[in-house]
Amino acid sequence: MASLSTSISKGLLHSPELREYMLETVVYPREPELLKEIRLITSNHPRCLMATAPEAGQLIALLLKLTNAKKTIEIGVFTGYSLVLTALTIPDDGKIIAIDIDRDAYEMGLPIIKKANIEHKINFIQSSALSALDELLNKNDNRGSFDFAFIDADKVSYQKYHERMLELVKVGGIIVYDNTLWFGTVAMPEECVKETMKPNRQHIIEFNKFLAADTRVQISQVPIGDGITICWRL
Ligand code: SAM
Ligand code: CA
Repeated sequence: MASLSTSISKGLLHSPELREYMLETVVYPREPELLKEIRLITSNHPRCLMATAPEAGQLIALLLKLTNAKKTIEIGVFTGYSLVLTALTIPDDGKIIAIDIDRDAYEMGLPIIKKANIEHKINFIQSSALSALDELLNKNDNRGSFDFAFIDADKVSYQKYHERMLELVKVGGIIVYDNTLWFGTVAMPEECVKETMKPNRQHIIEFNKFLAADTRVQISQVPIGDGITICWRL
């Protein structure tokens, strides 16, 4: 079991080779050039592991297309991989409210956003997500108005974000949560998990249980990237 705590990697697939195969064969050949650029710029960031896994991004893009999403919201922008992916996928008159406390990371990806000519779709809000969401909820027009939401910020708040998303996303809309398998640690005995991973492991374990019992959404947890859970608002 000791090896489990040291085998933390971004892909949860059976082997790193299998993930590499998937990326090289199916994901990277179809990844837009400017998204590749965001990925490369982000690789210089000390916290580059935070960026959304490209194979999860490909599924998110498919969901956006399948639902004809136009009005979207993202919590947790970082340098903008999922943001640029979303902005490139939704129509030219689509809109994304993108919330993050960290403007510096967002500005790292901003030259790519300008180059991709997608800045007009993005409303970046530098704020703690909970207060930004509560502000959105104060305006009745926002309720039930979003087609799609991607949640990828502090794991401790996922349940609070969920309650707010259920108010903001329309019936038939999609809410996606990232990192719901937390590097595979959710299935490891606690004593095998690195101390630094334990708090979020616990938040995610609780969130997964909570979502499994939530009859307001239909769900599916997909073991790609770091695990994503797709919720369809009923
Ligand atoms: N989706 C991003 C991507 O594809 O690169 C990765 C997001 S990263 C995992 C998490 C982000 O959430 C960080 O940029 C962090 O600043 C932000 N964050 C953490 N806690 C937050 C909070 N309470 N409110 C707003 N943003 C928060
Ligand atoms: Ca993530």
